[in-house]
Amino acid sequence: MDTKGNREKNSLKKASLLLLHDLLGIKGAFLENQVQDRDLLLDRLREKVLSCKSCPLHKTKTRYVFGEGNPYSSLMLVGEAPGREEDISGKPFVGRAGQLLTKALMEEGIERDGETYIANVLKCRPPKNRDPLPFEIEACSPYLDLQIKIVSPTVIVAMGRFAARFLLSTDSSIRALRGIVHASRYGVPVVVTYHPAALLRNPKLYSSFRSDIRSAKEILRGG
Ligand code: URA
Repeated sequence: MDTKGNREKNSLKKASLLLLHDLLGIKGAFLENQVQDRDLLLDRLREKVLSCKSCPLHKTKTRYVFGEGNPYSSLMLVGEAPGREEDISGKPFVGRAGQLLTKALMEEGIERDGETYIANVLKCRPPKNRDPLPFEIEACSPYLDLQIKIVSPTVIVAMGRFAARFLLSTDSSIRALRGIVHASRYGVPVVVTYHPAALLRNPKLYSSFRSDIRSAKEILRGG
């Protein structure tokens, strides 16, 4: 049926394919020339994100939130989508949930700025922090895909169900996915944990969150 919704989805799919093709130019150069300058590659990718119109969220966001951290980190953290504070600042995890994340990392001996790279599944805030929609995730997916390939971490921590779904193509609950080191299509092991916002709602989850971060750290140590 040629409904308005279908036409919008098809044009988004086409836009996202075109975008992917475009971005694969970067990936090709990365592989062919063995370019090791991850800062440069991320800068080029950031430029693409900052002009992205692949889904309607670019119209309602304040700022794009590309991601940040050390591009040579062996630990990558993946969240869901920018919230209010992130939308205003253009930086990931700077609100209350982000502060809790920084605290947990610190308590596990990990320096957020120097030792991690953090990105979200979506680069634009969904209005009123609603859940990301499947076509928004599809439209935005080439960016996180390439961020992971460029940073090529040793381990990824998926924070919350949208990150876990994206990385592991699964519908399982966080509860079912925790405590297992998962193989991913990136060839990088994935540890699943709660979204830091869930810790704000239920502080009892904080120690489990910390123990998941510790598991990721043990993988880095080869343990
Ligand atoms: N929640 C997320 O998933 N990402 C952010 O950057 C902030 C809150």
